[in-house]
Amino acid sequence: MPQAKKCVSGKKLFDTEALALLALLEFYRNNGNANINGPKNVYHCGECAYWHFTSKGEFHPDVKSYLSSADYQLRLKANKWISKFKDY
Ligand SMILES: [Zn+2]
Repeated sequence: MPQAKKCVSGKKLFDTEALALLALLEFYRNNGNANINGPKNVYHCGECAYWHFTSKGEFHPDVKSYLSSADYQLRLKANKWISKFKDY
């Protein structure tokens, strides 16, 4: 069994910046409420040399523009309804 990649930070690892950014956008597509203290950007880690999410600092420009898009606003509304369905 190959060892799972790990970092002392305990965070999820991404091979490239592009991959980390895509995952960050997916996060907001699927369960994203930008008002909670969620991840805002990605960074290259000096410990493991992979990429991680960070909730510090400013939103990545791509994430920021997604969060102001009509697609995101619609999904936010849809997610509210989806969370209500969980009660049934
Ligand atoms: Zn790391």
